[in-house]
Amino acid sequence: MKILTAAYVLTMNAQNECIKNGAVLIDGDTIKAVGSLAQLTQRYPEVLIEHYPQTLLMPGLINTHCHSGLLRGTAEGLPVWDWLQQFIDPMHRVLSPDDAKIASYLCYAEALLSGTTTIVDMWRYMDGSAEAAKDLGIRAVLVPYVAEHPDHNYFETLKSNEALINRWHKHANGRIQVWVGLEHLFYAETSALTRIEKLCHDYQTGFHTHSNESQFDVQENLRRSGIRPIESLQKLGLLDVPKTLLAHCVWADAREIQILKQHAVGVAHNPISNMKLASGAAPIVEMLRQGVAVGLGTDGEKENNNLDMFEEMKTASLLAKFSNLDAAALDAWSVCQMATLTGARALGMQHEIGSLEVGKQADMIAVKIDTPRMTPLIDQGRLFNLHTNLVHAVQGQDVLMTMVAGQVVVENGHLVHADLQALIDQVNQAAPRLFERRDQWFAKQGQAINELQREKS
Ligand SMILES: [Zn+2]
Repeated sequence: MKILTAAYVLTMNAQNECIKNGAVLIDGDTIKAVGSLAQLTQRYPEVLIEHYPQTLLMPGLINTHCHSGLLRGTAEGLPVWDWLQQFIDPMHRVLSPDDAKIASYLCYAEALLSGTTTIVDMWRYMDGSAEAAKDLGIRAVLVPYVAEHPDHNYFETLKSNEALINRWHKHANGRIQVWVGLEHLFYAETSALTRIEKLCHDYQTGFHTHSNESQFDVQENLRRSGIRPIESLQKLGLLDVPKTLLAHCVWADAREIQILKQHAVGVAHNPISNMKLASGAAPIVEMLRQGVAVGLGTDGEKENNNLDMFEEMKTASLLAKFSNLDAAALDAWSVCQMATLTGARALGMQHEIGSLEVGKQADMIAVKIDTPRMTPLIDQGRLFNLHTNLVHAVQGQDVLMTMVAGQVVVENGHLVHADLQALIDQVNQAAPRLFERRDQWFAKQGQAINELQREKS
């Protein structure tokens, strides 16, 4: 057992309680008590105390939608469907398991260093991702990029997804979950969609896919089936599996929002990605008003281009204000909730993580308060600003300590279980080779097209 103490403990419980000179007692991976340091030392006089002076302790942030990857800064300037065809899908055709693995190491390192303790990662060859999560100490929901369609036969399959579930679901003391993934509805044939539903029920696990990201997405679904994408998912039974998490939902209409609510579907809101790919502004104010659990996600390195959840919090706030032309839209407490407890609800994990409360996992971060970004810090009364500073001023680099399941995995701003420079070097070596192979694939396609034309003429 030990007691962690800091200038403030921001519990993110239902009352957004903030305790000055606060303390958290942990036993192994579990929170046993939360209160003031005076209270806890009186109740547990013999327990060792670890001091985090000039910081606030809060729950670790929950990134509800991300992709490990190696394309940062190289996939710019296109809207989502063109961007997929030009940059992303050809990369998937030539990606190797080793590339995939080192991408996950770097991704989880970046996440932990900036205060994320739980990450939902949709990626490839995810044994490597599971190893990265296990080694670095992050809590991860692994969701393979599955496609079951002849046009997209270079992704993960339901078979490889099921094998990953068998190998890794609930491993690393329960830190790793494996869900059933799907790139997008259009990437699967109907028979495969039925198998997804069955897999989720058989393994009592969740389902995650992208939905209603762009207007094209909705129009194309209407053209193919006469109904909207979330209606399609409902009809297929994919909203009645143990947990469904949909990324984006930018173009969900009022009826679809009702469906999300009815089926307790979680939504991953990715404001930076939605702005960068010119997808639109998701109606999250309305979703939250209806009680839909909307968490925050960074999306991948190629659509963000970093994994700083504090930046995502600020952007969520700004985008809601800007798109609603309402400076009061999405207040700072709601944003803090989205990054923590509401994010946990979106994953169906609200009983384990998302707030500093007795019985939950000891997933927490220490954020520096002796910074210009946190100054002035008003801790009471009408001008209380700790939460607004967190949302609008703090950055991921202000995170001093990250703890997952009671284990310190970032100490003094440094990874405990890996050499960051080595992870960076690996990616810098592998990425150019990946781009080369992608170029070769494109060149081969060009040749094939030329040959086809010659045959025709
Ligand atoms: Zn995505």
